[in-house]
Amino acid sequence: MDTDLPSLPNSLEARDRRSLVHGLTDLARHLEIGPKIIESGRGVWVSDGEGRTYLEGMSGLWCISLGYGQERLIAACEAQMRKLAYYHLTNHKGHPAPIELAEKLLEIAPVPMSHVWFANSGSESADCAARLCWYYWNAVGQPQKRKFLAHDRAYHGNTIAAASLTGTSYAHEGFNLPLDGFLHVATPHYLTGAQPDETEEQFVARLLAELEARILAEGPETIAAFFTEPVMAAGGVIVPPEGYFDGLQRLLNKHDILLVADEVVTAFGRTGEMFGTTRMGLEPDLIVLAKGLTSAYIPMSALMMNARIFDAISAYSGRLGIFGLTMTYSGHPVAAAVAREAIALYEELAIPERTKALEPVLLGGLRDRLGGHPNVGDIRGTGLLAGVQLVARRDPLTLFDASARFGPRVAALAEDNGLIVRAIGDTIAICPPLVIDEAEIAQLVDRLARAIEAAAAEPGA
Ligand code: PMP
Repeated sequence: MDTDLPSLPNSLEARDRRSLVHGLTDLARHLEIGPKIIESGRGVWVSDGEGRTYLEGMSGLWCISLGYGQERLIAACEAQMRKLAYYHLTNHKGHPAPIELAEKLLEIAPVPMSHVWFANSGSESADCAARLCWYYWNAVGQPQKRKFLAHDRAYHGNTIAAASLTGTSYAHEGFNLPLDGFLHVATPHYLTGAQPDETEEQFVARLLAELEARILAEGPETIAAFFTEPVMAAGGVIVPPEGYFDGLQRLLNKHDILLVADEVVTAFGRTGEMFGTTRMGLEPDLIVLAKGLTSAYIPMSALMMNARIFDAISAYSGRLGIFGLTMTYSGHPVAAAVAREAIALYEELAIPERTKALEPVLLGGLRDRLGGHPNVGDIRGTGLLAGVQLVARRDPLTLFDASARFGPRVAALAEDNGLIVRAIGDTIAICPPLVIDEAEIAQLVDRLARAIEAAAAEPGA
């Protein structure tokens, strides 16, 4: 948004500025320009207070996978609220909704999983995955295994451990993070990470060699787990090159380091498989889920663990007398009922298969329309998760200086065209609701292309 909003004292924009703290936002600038208020949604579309509609090309924050107005999710919520609005899972209590949801998650899990722990956000589940790794290594008599590895462009959340796992500087700067022992390694992004004249294969081999050298330097006996997203979403929609995850998995097995797959964005059909783990060929010990779990209709997250983890932690908690990892809303019945219904919809609507079929429509559409544009250096993605990398020049490939803020300008112009996308630096992220159809994908591509063309035509671009 470029223009100052009218600040009628009682407008929502003015009240927002007087009352709310917004995340991932320049707060000083927000006080000047205020918010765009979104008031309603239907399918893949949202409307603002002035009657303008936008194609929600980001599913909000990568989350409203089934789109707006899904009556069955609303009905599941209401029915569960009437029956049992709240119960918990502590002190040997149980209730039906989280049992049914856990069973279903274990049934569809991409690798054999044993048990499920619930929380309310991706951050909480990632944070508690780290704690669970510590608990596990204590349980099996290796308490020195305490360090974590993650990619330097990973996003794993914003609580203290999750923000420490996150690699991006905005989660750390000014917040005294990361905590000690949360280590970051190079992101497998060929375009921005390769050395001159390095082939993709050589790039992968170098990154894996550097990773192993790091593991050996730290001491494998001190490393608890490696966290990775199957596709790094908030880091810029980065799909690791062929061979990277195979090599990573081999290194982790060799050095007895647990693998945690953060599927907060990639699960439930996003990549064209029910789980990104399947698409990318990972074998995680723990899987973190959130966002699409309830299609964002209500907050909920989950942590699936395999038998190696569960058997050890249950025996250990028997020795300690208690397993202390608990939250008031773990397994909340209303959230669990909504999640169970969301999974029923993913299956009934064949969302993974549909997404796989739409992948070439989205990526092919972007490539046909933008592949030759002088400011487009790369179009990447998997399923309905895509990134358009904007560059100052294609040949030789020259990235924009961050101060050019070309990506944010494109996102602003797209919004003027009625399309919401997100600029991650100079990558435009695209992650529409999975119920999008071909005609809507064509509109998305056209609106984005027009925004890029308009930004490139501006003086000084
Ligand atoms: N992991 C990933 C991969 C994410 O993208 C996010 C959120 N963008 C999180 C974890 C954190 O989830 P939440 O915001 O629900 O805490």
